[in-house]
Amino acid sequence: MSQSDTETDILARLKAGDMSACEICVAEHSDQLFRLAFRMVRDEQLAEDIVQDTFLNAFKGLEHFDGRSTLGTWLFRIAYNNALMRLRAHKPLEPLGIDGEGETAPVVVPWRESPEEIVERQETAAQLDEAIASLPATLRAVFQLRDIEERSTTETAEILGLTEAAVKVRLHRARLALREKLSRYFEAVEEPRAATMTCEQLVPYLSDYIDHAVEEPLAAAARAHLASCPHCHILLDTTRMTITLLQQNRTRTIPAADRRELFAQIQAAFLERRRNAQKAKPAE
Ligand SMILES: [Zn+2]
Repeated sequence: MSQSDTETDILARLKAGDMSACEICVAEHSDQLFRLAFRMVRDEQLAEDIVQDTFLNAFKGLEHFDGRSTLGTWLFRIAYNNALMRLRAHKPLEPLGIDGEGETAPVVVPWRESPEEIVERQETAAQLDEAIASLPATLRAVFQLRDIEERSTTETAEILGLTEAAVKVRLHRARLALREKLSRYFEAVEEPRAATMTCEQLVPYLSDYIDHAVEEPLAAAARAHLASCPHCHILLDTTRMTITLLQQNRTRTIPAADRRELFAQIQAAFLERRRNAQKAKPAE
């Protein structure tokens, strides 16, 4: 049986109220949801609450889940949004620290033209579109709704199923990322520079470089800098090692003492959903 067959099968059985499917689903996904939640809220009890809420929300929304994303992705999204809400509730003034951090060290290049002058040049329209298109989908959607369509934060949050805090963080990220992309582009048009960069210019791209997500000619400049700069070379190597090291530590699971009770509560909620579905049937 392929992965998707299993998934389709589990989903159908969940919708039909099959308890064994619920057990399989909880066993398969709860620890990874717990790890994501814990990573965000840094509290095991709170992370367990998020796991429970995630399954309760999922059971409520099961009829509307169309299977276009995987069950795991869908559950992650619910858990992520739950965790964002918990973070806001517990630490309303603390920056979320999940998006945007480490991305606020842009390469500062003064623009030589006003935005109006830039827009008047027909050939730049494609580059502007391309800059927006290069953002991750979540940032594109937020930027489009807030800055292009001029919708409120509240409405944008409602449309995208995000918290308002997440909309604000993503809008900030999108604006900074676009500024970065466009200032680079226009600098290149106005005054081509030698393909070298400073340490300060490299560092913001270090993570993308590690992920092979830096495009030419920036990647060439990064390679040239790394080849000649022991400091950045060490920074790159040790960052890669850090990632590898952290990947070894993926074993955090829901504490055994809480596991049975948590699963029992999730199963009880699943049974309740099934009872309600059965009650609703004769009326249809
Ligand atoms: Zn350097």
